[in-house]
Amino acid sequence: MARYTDAVCKLCRREGEKLFLKGTKCVTDKCPIEKRNYPPGEHGDKRTKASNYSVQLREKQKVRRIYGVLERQFRNYFTRAESKKGVTGVVLLQLLESRLDNMLYRLSFAGSRSQARQLVLHRHVEVNGRLVTIPSYQVKPGDEISIREQSKKLALIHNSLKRVKEGSQLTWIDVDKASLKGKLMMMPEREQIPVDVKEQLIVELYSK
Ligand code: SF4
Repeated sequence: MARYTDAVCKLCRREGEKLFLKGTKCVTDKCPIEKRNYPPGEHGDKRTKASNYSVQLREKQKVRRIYGVLERQFRNYFTRAESKKGVTGVVLLQLLESRLDNMLYRLSFAGSRSQARQLVLHRHVEVNGRLVTIPSYQVKPGDEISIREQSKKLALIHNSLKRVKEGSQLTWIDVDKASLKGKLMMMPEREQIPVDVKEQLIVELYSK
């Protein structure tokens, strides 16, 4: 499948904020947003005045980039969210949050969602005791995610776990760092999802 292969830090600069796409670098002063917080390109620092449409579009792009989802896939998530009960924008975020790659990131088994995707693609992850190699796999409440026995010594996983501060765990997931297992306990409420986005703008964009 086609994937974005250019420098990912440009994506944060385009959105004007940290999207935390690179793991450790994002929390150091090497993060380009610290020095050049304006869009990339020759006239990046001169652009002004955003229309309603461009504000909505930017919000959609921001969410897409945070979760590492391509346009068509994102549209499919939106269609699914619309067909489910509940507030469409919130259901959209819940669907994105319960992707397997995002869950691994939330469980701190990976430092970024792209690292989490690699873990899945390289056959290191099981759900309910069965190997899963699809990063977009939809995890359901009660599902157990675990690192395969032969992959439990991977430095990437242990480095990521070390970086997580005590007490920063989310209440809707349960993580057992010793056995490298975790569970989605329930679908998170909107206020429990730690992404700073205005999902209603995406609903407005797609409702035009
Ligand atoms: Fe974004 Fe991380 Fe790059 Fe900073 S270091 S611009 S937060 S991806």
